[in-house]
Amino acid sequence: MASRELMDEVMRRLKRRYRAQMRTSLDHTNPWELLVATMLSAQSQDAQVNKVTARLFKAYRTPKEFARLRPGQLYPYIGVLGLYRGKARNIVATARMLEGRYGGEVPRAMDDLVKLPGVGRKTANVVLGNAFHVYAGIAIDTHCITVANRLGIARTRDPVKIEERLMKLVDRKEYANVSHLFIALGRDVCTARVKRCEGCVLRDICPSSSR
Ligand code: SF4
Repeated sequence: MASRELMDEVMRRLKRRYRAQMRTSLDHTNPWELLVATMLSAQSQDAQVNKVTARLFKAYRTPKEFARLRPGQLYPYIGVLGLYRGKARNIVATARMLEGRYGGEVPRAMDDLVKLPGVGRKTANVVLGNAFHVYAGIAIDTHCITVANRLGIARTRDPVKIEERLMKLVDRKEYANVSHLFIALGRDVCTARVKRCEGCVLRDICPSSSR
């Protein structure tokens, strides 16, 4: 099956199977909360991040409130997460930059977002796609890397190359969905450690299927 044809079929099946998961699992009520939650999610489980942000956003809400903090004031809230010191530093620095340059608002452009401390393309894509419905690119996490390689769509672990490849194979309006659906498949049956192909809706079209 040609790559575009394969990707069309993959998307069709994954949408049918994981429709309820075509959204970020990070709880948020506005773009700033999603930006913070996504920054906190690096090397942490989304469920754990949601527990942290439930308390954190009760204490501090806006970029203005975060901008006034010292990073150490976030430790009691986010200290259970990996890399929390760096995350606290970046969140406070980002809040200050939003206050100083963007009128306290999360910018809606990739070029602006990736200038924020600790914000890379993946985080920017999550925020743009989910908070603003701006589809500039595709958020690639470890699940996406695993799934793209097993499907033979990519042969690299470089997230930028995988993003470029996927952007050629799906329509722009599907950019956020590709990420959500690959993550859903990766969490369900196609994990990095083990693949449970017998329960996978792609088993008859996947070149890595063990069935
Ligand atoms: S068939 Fe197996 S290797 Fe292929 S996507 Fe499904 S679980 Fe992963």
